[in-house]
Amino acid sequence: MAKNKKNQERPGLLVAAPDGAVYEHPTLEMALDNGVDLLRVTPRDVIALPDDWDLMAMPGTRPIGYDRVTGKFETLTSFTNDAGHTFEPWAVACHPPPGYVRAFHAAALYTDATHPDAKMRELAEQAIEKKKRDAEKSNKRGLPLVGNDEARPGLPLWAYTAVGATAKGTVAALFLADETSRWSPDLFYKPDLNERINKRLSEDPTNQVLLQLSECARDYLCCCASNVFYERWEGAVPIAPACTAACLGCLSKEPAFNTPTPQKRLKFQPTSDEIGRVIASHLERSPEPMMSFGQGCEGEPTMNGPVIIDAVLQARARTQRGIININTNGSRPETIRECAKAGASALRISINTFDRDVYTMYYRPADYDYDDVIRSFYVGKEMGMHISINLLIWPGWTDQMAEVDRISKLVDDGALHMVQLRNLCMDPGYFRQALPPREKRGILLGMKGFVAELHRRHPKLRFGTFNPRLAAAWWPEVPAFAGQL
Ligand code: SF4
Ligand code: SF4
Repeated sequence: MAKNKKNQERPGLLVAAPDGAVYEHPTLEMALDNGVDLLRVTPRDVIALPDDWDLMAMPGTRPIGYDRVTGKFETLTSFTNDAGHTFEPWAVACHPPPGYVRAFHAAALYTDATHPDAKMRELAEQAIEKKKRDAEKSNKRGLPLVGNDEARPGLPLWAYTAVGATAKGTVAALFLADETSRWSPDLFYKPDLNERINKRLSEDPTNQVLLQLSECARDYLCCCASNVFYERWEGAVPIAPACTAACLGCLSKEPAFNTPTPQKRLKFQPTSDEIGRVIASHLERSPEPMMSFGQGCEGEPTMNGPVIIDAVLQARARTQRGIININTNGSRPETIRECAKAGASALRISINTFDRDVYTMYYRPADYDYDDVIRSFYVGKEMGMHISINLLIWPGWTDQMAEVDRISKLVDDGALHMVQLRNLCMDPGYFRQALPPREKRGILLGMKGFVAELHRRHPKLRFGTFNPRLAAAWWPEVPAFAGQL
């Protein structure tokens, strides 16, 4: 990638060729998308991207940059590289590294007419004019519009974050929200992992949970699965092949619009004996031990109540050491209560909003509703659990003042102790169309402003992106916000 020479103060626009090569535009600046508007970037909006972190091309999009001469945002439909090769460029983004939160979306045009396949483009163009007119009637945000979802390919489920080029290297619209000492890549993916997996499997060779974990550690490079074999810190215990919801952006289930997902959901229901053995061994052997159900890409662990409750009971019959943590969508408050009675002491509820309608639109709950989720917070409080939210953030929606108010209510009621900021992974072109229009969003604070306002109102409310190190004796001394805004 060429170095930025002209835009010393503001980052330059990056574009991708269909073969994946990334180029810096000679004149246009990087632009930001705050979820409702395009913005000109300032140096304080971006930080350096770690050297070893990859950029991503966004097939089927067009990059948008800012033209300092005309003072306008420009959508790029053609780009000629230094070798004289002209192509239709794609927007470039990055997925945030662990511990980092996306502050701005990549600025890009998402329409059917940008489909990489010419035949699909032709089909889509037949529908796009009408779709544009309809969308323009209900969209006064000034952002590019979405075309026909059936024709445009869904982007894989990542959190597409704005990136740009400076003389010092690539920058991204991110901020750090946690300390990352236990999640550094050099602690994982080591040559001895296979040996450790084989040794652990030899102790319990038919245990389906361990067999699944070995696949998760080897094939999906899952850190929490690896920790089970390294016998340290937080381990995952996948148990749920099904879910009570059908989220638009479910990482473990392919959604209706045919978007590829990074992980496949497990296909079996392990027994409570198998689950209990894996939990107990990890809690007995590990430093700072925590065992987490529902860690990321399985179904809903409370869906089969009797199994999870019995598994916790069996583990606790062997050891009282460490933390048993339930990551859940909050759909089964009474199962959470029984798990707490059995010995689980931490609860993390995944949620993308405290707006009932948008929650329902995104989660598509099967046999529960938003009220059950809220009840789960209060059950957690009654049972004395440490309660976090896994807040799936979306710039332009999460940062509403109304969301701050709703979260504040839970904090004031003693039903929320920590906000874990997670980047909602969705095709931005698709999701922006699904959200209510700008006029229904009230005051938007920006993602940094959202954190700052919650922190100001609740100095003891903890922030992070990972589950808290509750089993560490020094944990209470850690600052409430250990990141950098
Ligand atoms: S709650 Fe979790 S597992 Fe269930 S559909 Fe949503 S993202 Fe997927
Ligand atoms: S988080 Fe996903 S990859 Fe990791 S152990 Fe659980 S199911 Fe496996």
